[in-house]
Amino acid sequence: FVTGKRRATEVAHAVWRSIVRKGDTVVDATCGNGNDTLALLKMVADERAQGCVYGMDIQDSAIESTSSFLKMAVDDDHQRELVKLFPICHSRMEEIVPKDAPVRLVAFNLGYLPGGDKTLITVPRTTELALQAASRILSSGGLISVLVYIGHPGGRDELDVVESFASSLPLDTWASCKLQMVNRPVAPVLILLNKK
Ligand code: SAM
Repeated sequence: FVTGKRRATEVAHAVWRSIVRKGDTVVDATCGNGNDTLALLKMVADERAQGCVYGMDIQDSAIESTSSFLKMAVDDDHQRELVKLFPICHSRMEEIVPKDAPVRLVAFNLGYLPGGDKTLITVPRTTELALQAASRILSSGGLISVLVYIGHPGGRDELDVVESFASSLPLDTWASCKLQMVNRPVAPVLILLNKK
């Protein structure tokens, strides 16, 4: 997953591609500017325009940014309609993802909106609630992927919460691991939680 990739998001996308299949239902818990949403759409959309990406962000401006980015990047209207966007906190993801949808991946890209207000960041309490919600909706064989930025104030506290959640998961039903560039101390940390 790591060879030739310089950005943590590229590594995360490579991991997602190994799990997500055409037609799957996935969740982007932090849409931001829509880069991850688009990557997920390409992974799930099949020729019959099936699959679904549920995307959310606490900021209306991020939802607008994701929506216009998708309009620019995806010509096919039917494919674009596979993305459902909601301006809500990710701790409420169970309110928007249908109960009968087997969710293959829940992706978190924590921190602040690039190009936006750097004080509006993800915070440990709601991140923890969102991880709990993600663990409930995820199907067997699915993955929770959490990219944590530790270079900004509060980033390391958030990493502590994510690691503590990851280490609390029972070994018989979850495999938790952490990817970190050890020769780049403030590089984002990727936490991967696989539900067996
Ligand atoms: N995935 C994005 C992309 O590809 O452009 C980048 C995401 S950005 C690093 C983090 C996003 O999390 C910001 O847009 C921010 O508004 C959002 N966010 C902060 N708190 C949130 C919350 N409680 N629920 C959902 N989104 C939140």
